[in-house]
Amino acid sequence: MAGRLAGKRAFLTAAGQGIGRATALAFLAEGAEVIATDRDADKLAGLEGARTLALDVLDDAAVKDAIGGAGPLDILFNGAGFVHQNTALTCTDQEWDFAFALNVRAMWKTIAAALPGMQAQGRGAIVNIASIASALKAAPDRFVYGTTKAAVQGLTRSVAIDNVGKGIRCNCICPGTVDTPSLGERIAANASAAGSVEAARAAFVARQAMGRLGNAEEIAALAVWLASDESAFVTGQSIVIDGGWTV
Ligand code: NAD
Repeated sequence: MAGRLAGKRAFLTAAGQGIGRATALAFLAEGAEVIATDRDADKLAGLEGARTLALDVLDDAAVKDAIGGAGPLDILFNGAGFVHQNTALTCTDQEWDFAFALNVRAMWKTIAAALPGMQAQGRGAIVNIASIASALKAAPDRFVYGTTKAAVQGLTRSVAIDNVGKGIRCNCICPGTVDTPSLGERIAANASAAGSVEAARAAFVARQAMGRLGNAEEIAALAVWLASDESAFVTGQSIVIDGGWTV
């Protein structure tokens, strides 16, 4: 089935790699007009058919300009996020502030920039990327990360309730462990403590009851559904896609 997003204009953050890139490709395949953005413009190469734009979501003015300049959106996909490995005792002030700025505040800013256009046209779907490490489940050494992703769930519900009568839906996706470039960095960082890269990878794999990592395309398929009219009766939800981690 193709064309599920035909006639819809979609704006994505962090579309250069991982879940964001897979989602940009899936949106294109389903016929959306895609504006794909990332802090690192080089990573956007190869997204044929998309309008690409360098955008650091920590830059409020640039976010406002980029979304304002894109024209009214039907779909906003918020993918930007960073995983710190810390506990309440090791988290630094800098890590706390950075995590909230990127994982939460930047979503507020993109949503605030997109909402007026969506409200004017009486339709819109916002898809935020949260995590299983959130209000759903604690993961070891994910103190500030899990705290910010729980905030994403709260932000999602707030936006959903304030716009429920205006044709605008807002949902978040809560992935388990997904094989992306940044996961590779976390595996490398944990290798010495785990004994080897293989052992560090196995520890991540073991979290999913299915015994494997997710792939970015599986998350993208859910993003397509949430962005499409097929999910018209769904708003304010945290949708779990985790290979059985929370079962
Ligand atoms: P990733 O971390 O490998 O890549 C992130 C992308 O974001 C990169 O292209 C990077 O250039 C871009 N980026 C970083 N800072 C930015 C900024 N300030 N402005 C704009 N772009 C910026 O991708 P991923 O692992 O697919 O993670 C994407 C999202 O999914 C994140 O929010 C992450 O928390 C969430 N998530 C990931 C996993 C996982 O296991 N990979 C699991 C659950 C949730």
